[in-house]
Amino acid sequence: MARYIGPVCRMCRREDTKLFLKGDRCHTDKCGYERRQYPPGQHGQGRRRRPSDYGQQLREKQKVKRMYGLLEKQFRGYYNKATRMKGVSGENLLSLLERRLDNVAIRCGFSASHAEARQLVRHGHFTINGQRVDIPSYQVRVGDVVEVREKSRKVQKIVDALANVDRSPLPQWLELDRDAFKGKITALPTRSDVAADIDEQLIVELYSK
Ligand code: SF4
Repeated sequence: MARYIGPVCRMCRREDTKLFLKGDRCHTDKCGYERRQYPPGQHGQGRRRRPSDYGQQLREKQKVKRMYGLLEKQFRGYYNKATRMKGVSGENLLSLLERRLDNVAIRCGFSASHAEARQLVRHGHFTINGQRVDIPSYQVRVGDVVEVREKSRKVQKIVDALANVDRSPLPQWLELDRDAFKGKITALPTRSDVAADIDEQLIVELYSK
């Protein structure tokens, strides 16, 4: 699967917000956005122009896509799926993104960033209901138990991430048993469970043109 391998702090500067793509570093004063709060590139320090409606929609889509570490084709696939579901498309989209296994690993505190979570999943460090799953895009369901495999509990990245688990509050749709390295999905994520500042309606407007 293709993935973005360029500099990631640029993305935060481009979207003018912290996307928390680098784990621990994002919480230190080494954060690239904290140090340079202007867009990347030669003209980045020039005057920011007021974006057009299309510009705002595009930036919102890019922001959310980057937040979840997805490429355009994958993101568009989620949008198409969200429009086929009952309910509000924008909210369905966020719910589908939240239910990805790599995202659940972050929300439970087993990983500090999406890139890291994806690698941990790919390397087979997690089970769902006792079965090893190595697909980062796996959609969890209510009742699923996501667990760090016994032999992976000493993996340094997981240990470090769990040490900082209190940094972000656990969403209401998850239950965490930290000592057992287990997270349980108790409900489907709703719009109010997504804490990030996202205007999903702009994404729907962009894609439905
Ligand atoms: Fe973004 Fe993290 Fe880089 Fe800061 S350190 S600019 S939050 S990726």
